[in-house]
Amino acid sequence: MSKTVYVDNAATTAMNDIAIEAMKPCFKEIYGNPSSLHSVGQVAKEWLERARADVAACLGAEPREIYFTSGGSEADNQALRSAAFNGALKGKKHIITSAVEHHAILHTLKKLESEGFEVTYLPVDGNGLVTAEQVAEAIRPDTALVTIMYANNEIGTIMPVREIGAVCRAKKVVFHTDAVQAVGHIPVDVEKDNIDMLSLSAHKFHGPKGVGVLYCRKTVNLRTFIEGGAQEKGKRAGTENLAGVCAMAAALKDAIAHLYENMAEEARLRDILIRGLSKIPHSRLNGDAKNRLPGNVNMCFEGIEGESLLLLLDAKGICASSGSACTSGSLDPSHVLLAIGLPHEVAHGSLRLSLCPYNTEEEMKYIVEQVPAVVEYLRSISPVWEELEKGQRPHLI
Ligand SMILES: *Cc1c(COP(=O)(O)O)cnc(C)c1O
Repeated sequence: MSKTVYVDNAATTAMNDIAIEAMKPCFKEIYGNPSSLHSVGQVAKEWLERARADVAACLGAEPREIYFTSGGSEADNQALRSAAFNGALKGKKHIITSAVEHHAILHTLKKLESEGFEVTYLPVDGNGLVTAEQVAEAIRPDTALVTIMYANNEIGTIMPVREIGAVCRAKKVVFHTDAVQAVGHIPVDVEKDNIDMLSLSAHKFHGPKGVGVLYCRKTVNLRTFIEGGAQEKGKRAGTENLAGVCAMAAALKDAIAHLYENMAEEARLRDILIRGLSKIPHSRLNGDAKNRLPGNVNMCFEGIEGESLLLLLDAKGICASSGSACTSGSLDPSHVLLAIGLPHEVAHGSLRLSLCPYNTEEEMKYIVEQVPAVVEYLRSISPVWEELEKGQRPHLI
C-alpha cells in the first residue's frame, strides 16, 4: 500500500467536498462585511445567519445561543473565564472538572487558579469515567461552574453528560462541556443533555481549521472575550470568518444527516482494529469498551515507546498518534493514561488510532498486518522487554 493511511482524525480531519464547496462563494462573491449596511454586506449577513441557524438546529439550540469562535480552544477559554468571573461576582470561586480534560480546559483552569479560583479535579475510574454522583458530592455552595468533557480525545470514553447536566441543573450550577470530539460523531443535544455551555470545533468533523462554536444557553450570561466591534452580540469582536463559518455549518449538517450510518461504519472498522491488535501479547485497550467513540482505538503495548512506534508506522504510511506528548524536550506520558491508573512505563507505549467514515476496511487490514510486526521489532531491541522476558521485572499488562 503506497498511499497514506490517515488514522489521526482526533487530531484533525481532511475537509470534505461539501465543506469546500460551501466555502468557495465566500471568497469572491459573498465578500461583504456582515456589519456593513449596504447590500453587499447584508448578503454576507444573511449567509452568516443562515449558518448560525443551521448549526443551532444540529445541536437542538436556538440561533441566538450560537457564538462563532476561532475554534475549540477559544470556545473553551471563553466559556470557563466567563462562568468563573460571573461566579466571582456572587462570591463563588470554586470550579469542578475531571482529571482527563483537554489542555484547553486544564491550562485555562490553571490560569484561573493563579487568579484566585479553586479547582476540584475529579478522578476517573479505570475506563476514564466520572459519575454524576461524584459531581453531586463535589458541588459546594460556592461552586460557579462544572466543566466535564463530552468524550475524551485520547481514549474515546464518553462521559455520562446527561446525568451530570441534570445534577448541575438541580443544584443551579452552570454546566459546560467540551464536546469537540463528540459533535458530528455521536448524538449531542443541548436540551436533552442538560447543557448550559458547549464548545465545538469544525476541523474535527471535516470542516476547516480555525473556526468553532461556543453554545451559551440564553439564560446564562456570556462575558465578552475579545473587545472591539459589536460582532457576536458584542461578546466576541472581529470581522466574522464567513467562509469558515459556512463551511463548518455545511460539514456539521452533513455529519448529522449521516450520523448513525457513519457511527456504524466507524464502529465496524474500529472493531476490526481492536480485534486484530488485541492479539498482540501484553497489550491492552484503553478506555471504556462500551461508552466509547465509534472511531477511537487506544492501546498500550508493553516494553516499547509510543514515539518509536509512531515513527516506524509513519515510515509504512500509517499516520497515527501516541498518548504521550513531547513537551519541552522531556517525554511526559499522557495525563489521561496516568489518570486511568496506568503506570508510567505502560503509558509510554501507547498508540491512538482515530477513524473517520472515509477510512476503509482495506486500510484496517493493512494496520492489523503492520502494527504487530513493528511492535515485535521494537521489543526485539528493547532493554525493558528483555528484562520482562527474563523475569527480571514483572509484566504489568
Ligand atoms: C481538538 C480539541 C480541542 C481544540 O480545538 P481547536 O479547534 O483545535 O482549538 C479542544 N478540546 C478537545 C477535546 C479537542 O479534541
